[in-house]
Amino acid sequence: MQKNIIISTPSHKLTLNCHFDFVERDKFEINKELFFNLCKSGCVNFDQNYSCPPFSPHFNSYVGKEKHFFVLLLKINLNQFKDYTYMDHHKLRIGNAVIKPRIEKIMRALELSFGPKLAGKFLGTGACRLCKPCQRKVNKKCRYPDKLRFSLESLGVDCNKLCLKLFKFPLLWYKEKKAPLYTSVIAAIPLNNINNKSEIIKLTKKELNKVL
Ligand code: SF4
Repeated sequence: MQKNIIISTPSHKLTLNCHFDFVERDKFEINKELFFNLCKSGCVNFDQNYSCPPFSPHFNSYVGKEKHFFVLLLKINLNQFKDYTYMDHHKLRIGNAVIKPRIEKIMRALELSFGPKLAGKFLGTGACRLCKPCQRKVNKKCRYPDKLRFSLESLGVDCNKLCLKLFKFPLLWYKEKKAPLYTSVIAAIPLNNINNKSEIIKLTKKELNKVL
């Protein structure tokens, strides 16, 4: 399922492609060790944010027995900046700055509107951004442990494979100083049941319509 929305930033009017679908747990490919090592060797947040490895648990222990998930992906085509003189890394930075806070806001809203009887804590994207800096950096306790949400990748989920399986396109990355055609973020929410898919889709579309 897909819905396109137009959002406005101080400098741009942009189209966001929102893809969403239901997926069963066995469609998630988990490789905690691989993603732990990738984080350790290549990410500045490793051991610097309580939502990231080595603090993030394994997907299986975190989500418990949930069998169903609702997945949302936001994608922004970077060709929308073709008439600007931005460097490629700048285009990617703007794209990510548009989609990352928005998916977080939408997922928090969906968690609330689905309610605890239907849904668990959402699995987000990237490191927790609730405090600046994360209290891990200053050797203090997490300030908002109830609000902290782990990313799919920090739990060991192969997000590229999930995206390919569900939406039939890959995640793309910045390579050799070239911006990809698009940038995307993916998140999921565990569901106790999928008896009322149409209501879940209706609530999702309602939240997407609120995105500015
Ligand atoms: S809530 Fe704050 S202290 Fe806790 S993980 Fe998030 S950024 Fe770090």
